[in-house]
Amino acid sequence: MSDCIFCKIAAKEIPSEKLYEDDNIFVFLDAHPVNPGHALVIPKAHHLNIFDIPEDTFAQVMVGAKKVAGIIKETLQTDGINIGMNNDPAAGQVVFHAHVHVIPRFENDGHKHWHGVPYKEGEQKEIAERIRGAIEKTDQ
Ligand code: AMP
Ligand code: ZN
Repeated sequence: MSDCIFCKIAAKEIPSEKLYEDDNIFVFLDAHPVNPGHALVIPKAHHLNIFDIPEDTFAQVMVGAKKVAGIIKETLQTDGINIGMNNDPAAGQVVFHAHVHVIPRFENDGHKHWHGVPYKEGEQKEIAERIRGAIEKTDQ
C-alpha cells in the first residue's frame, strides 16, 4: 500500500534498524521501545491486522517472532520477552500494517501488566457458550 509507513520500511524506502529479513517478513527495531531491543515483525505484504492477514503469512510472522525472541533474549540477557499484537484502535493499534511486537523485559523494569477482573455470576459460562457456538459454526 503506497502510503503505509511499514510497507515503506519493508521496501527500504524509509530507513529503519533492520534486524532480519527473508522473502516474506521484515524485522526491525521499534523507534519508541518499551525497553531497548523492542522489535517489530511484519509481513512484507500489506495486511491490516490479525483479522485480514492470511493464516500462512501470520504463521511466517510468528516463526520470525520466535526466532528473534530467542536471539534478543540471549544477546541482551533479558529476563523475559513479551509477544504482543494490537488489533484495531480500541486495542491500541496505531499503525495499520499487521505487526507483532517482541518486547524485552527485565525484572523490576517498572512496566505493569494489565489487571484481570473477576467475572460476574454466570458470565464466564455464558461468554464461553457464545464463543464456542460461533467456533462450532465455523467448523461446519
Ligand atoms: P501499534 O500500537 O501496535 O500500532 O504500534 C506501532 C508501533 O510502531 C509503535 O510502537 C511505534 O513506536 C512503532 N513505529 C511507528 N513508526 C515507526 C518507525 N518509522 N520506525 C520504527 N518504529 C515505528
Ligand atoms: Zn503496509
